[in-house]
Amino acid sequence: MSQYTMTSAPDYIPVKMLREIQNERFMETFRYVYANVQWYRDLLEEHNVSPDSIKSIADISKLPFVKKTDLRDTYPFGMFAAPRNEIVRYHASSGTTGKPIVMGYTRGDLEVWNASVARGLAACGINDTDVLQNAYGYGLFTGGLGLHGGGEKLGCSVVPISGGNTERQLMLMRDFGATVVSCTPSYFLHLIDHAKKIGFDWKETKMRAGFFGAEPWTEEMRRSIEAETGIKAYDIYGLTEISGPGVGCECACQAGVHIFEDNFYPEIVDTETLEPLPDGEIGELVFTTLCKRGTPLIRYRTRDITSIVVEQCACGRTVRRISRISHRSDDMMIIRGVNVFPGQIEASLLAVDPTLIHYQIVLSKNATGLDVIETRVELSAEKFAELADNVAAVEAFKRAIGEKMQRTIGINVKISFVEPNSLPRSEGKLNRVVDNRNK
Ligand code: ADP
Ligand code: ZN
Repeated sequence: MSQYTMTSAPDYIPVKMLREIQNERFMETFRYVYANVQWYRDLLEEHNVSPDSIKSIADISKLPFVKKTDLRDTYPFGMFAAPRNEIVRYHASSGTTGKPIVMGYTRGDLEVWNASVARGLAACGINDTDVLQNAYGYGLFTGGLGLHGGGEKLGCSVVPISGGNTERQLMLMRDFGATVVSCTPSYFLHLIDHAKKIGFDWKETKMRAGFFGAEPWTEEMRRSIEAETGIKAYDIYGLTEISGPGVGCECACQAGVHIFEDNFYPEIVDTETLEPLPDGEIGELVFTTLCKRGTPLIRYRTRDITSIVVEQCACGRTVRRISRISHRSDDMMIIRGVNVFPGQIEASLLAVDPTLIHYQIVLSKNATGLDVIETRVELSAEKFAELADNVAAVEAFKRAIGEKMQRTIGINVKISFVEPNSLPRSEGKLNRVVDNRNK
């Protein structure tokens, strides 16, 4: 099959043409939002930006940012640009505190979103012969319907099983001959566990690929998942505010997420000054939607920290890649003045033992009021048996993990071991950090 298919063609647009398309779509979006969203007109006025000063996408940095709190404050429909009868679906972010963020989709918005997810799947070699078991949750969360729509668009046979029901997931996977799975990486870890428990052998299934996203995960976790199951694990990225999963996705090179930038225009800005940064530098990812009509957003701050990759990917796609999301700015832990990301803990743990895929980070204060960071590592049944009653071996293993973490993040991390199957699991996103410092 040629590398160019209907679904992948926009990925290979010559760069010059891509920039022209972005410029046109940006100007159209800007005019449309300005004409239809009172909140946006007020925002520009507040920042003394005259709409006439925006003549091309090169002027984008003159425009103010839109923040997550702005979307909360305008709950539910303050950001809607299309008349309500044109909205054919709502989604909302899974935010656990306060009001959710509500986004509205026109028929055209769903079309763009589905096509983006389909492009991502196709970039990893998925096609209409594949059976996609979609274990992302269905509902207001965008994961389920996002992968569902994209999978159908590509012509896959979609199994809309949603999250949970772990026993059944494995049964259907085998019986329906699923070749592709999609869910959060943490739910897939749960599936791996369960498979082990019931003697389910991945090698006896047709499963060949997984699309994992909606939460951060590491290269080390990718290797663990691939080693454990024999499938290829691909990174898929997105957020409700911009549409959902499929704002970007890896290609078969597994070398960073391609952003479908003819639909979603990315910028990286300095986290302190908010000034735009050149490709290659790390900062906060900011998006402008280029085709959305329900709830278009201009310069939306994602709080996701990454960089745009300078080099073109070996696959030949012209749409740029981002490096793996290292963390969300609000997930960063500050321990005794040192910035620590959960991903660093995960990467160092798995570097020492790639089978220890379950862990939890607990923050507390010691008697003198200093921050203490502890990693609770869940031992696998094999490791548990191997270490049983061997105090010296337990201590040596703890020391090896602790030293690796200390080298990575520069501070001492307390390591403790917990029994197999004792840490919380999740059917969706998993919060691995417990902060007891203010208790
Ligand atoms: P919420 O903000 O409530 O979690 P979403 O479900 O829209 O709502 O989640 C989007 C966020 O999930 C992104 O901004 C990002 O932080 C995270 N995310 C999504 N995909 C990935 C991925 N592949 N890698 C890392 N983080 C991701
Ligand atoms: Zn590529």
